[in-house]
Amino acid sequence: MRKPVIAGNWKLNKTINEAIELVNSLKRELIDIQGVEIIVCPVYTALSDLSDLLVDSNISLGAQNVYWESSGAFTGEVSSAMLKDAGCEYVIIGHSERRKYFNESDQTVNKRIKAAQQSELIPIFCVGETLEEREADKTIDVVKRQLAGGLEGLEKEALLNLIIAYEPVWAIGTGKTATPGQAQEVHSFIRNWLVENCSEEVAENLRILYGGSVKSANIKELMQQGDIDGALVGGASLDSSSFAELVKNSLV
Ligand code: PEP
Repeated sequence: MRKPVIAGNWKLNKTINEAIELVNSLKRELIDIQGVEIIVCPVYTALSDLSDLLVDSNISLGAQNVYWESSGAFTGEVSSAMLKDAGCEYVIIGHSERRKYFNESDQTVNKRIKAAQQSELIPIFCVGETLEEREADKTIDVVKRQLAGGLEGLEKEALLNLIIAYEPVWAIGTGKTATPGQAQEVHSFIRNWLVENCSEEVAENLRILYGGSVKSANIKELMQQGDIDGALVGGASLDSSSFAELVKNSLV
């Protein structure tokens, strides 16, 4: 049985005080919630403070990226051990905004996944096609390439400690959600790819999240799809009541 996951990607938003305020509200609103893994991914500067606040809560902490080297002359980067030290359990890797604005490739995504796992962080590995790629009927080819490149060389144990997020780029921050059917089609492809290229056990246990304009109003229908195990949420995770409602609706 795959435990659902709802992860909030706060992107480049919230000062430390704002992040503390949001987490305090979420803790109050979600105190009784069980049966779903709740994750918040703030900016690096808020990680350590939030980690202290989240001790003994039902909310976990994630970062939005990680570098593959452990230390040295890499100005502006942060290592997986440093994220672990700051209290992270998860890290988003290969988000389409990283791929688009920071030239991330399948190869660098692969290095980041391996580095994260060396520090026992669970990667939330993002894949997804652009609008042009979808319109050119290339969705499956693109996702296949991203999966093969991003997961290259990972052993079974590593694959069992990984989450995949399917995020069609055209649905991120646009208000256009993929229909539950469109999302399920790609999720099902991903699970079959895992059967063929990894193992039945990996395919059966690995959680696949959907991301792209998920809100409290559409999460329920998405969660009813057989291969959708949760959501990676941007905009709707920035407000405590909308995120708390979304988390609650994911369970029904
Ligand atoms: C995201 O950034 O991962 C995302 C899905 O954003 P939004 O929910 O705002 O579309």
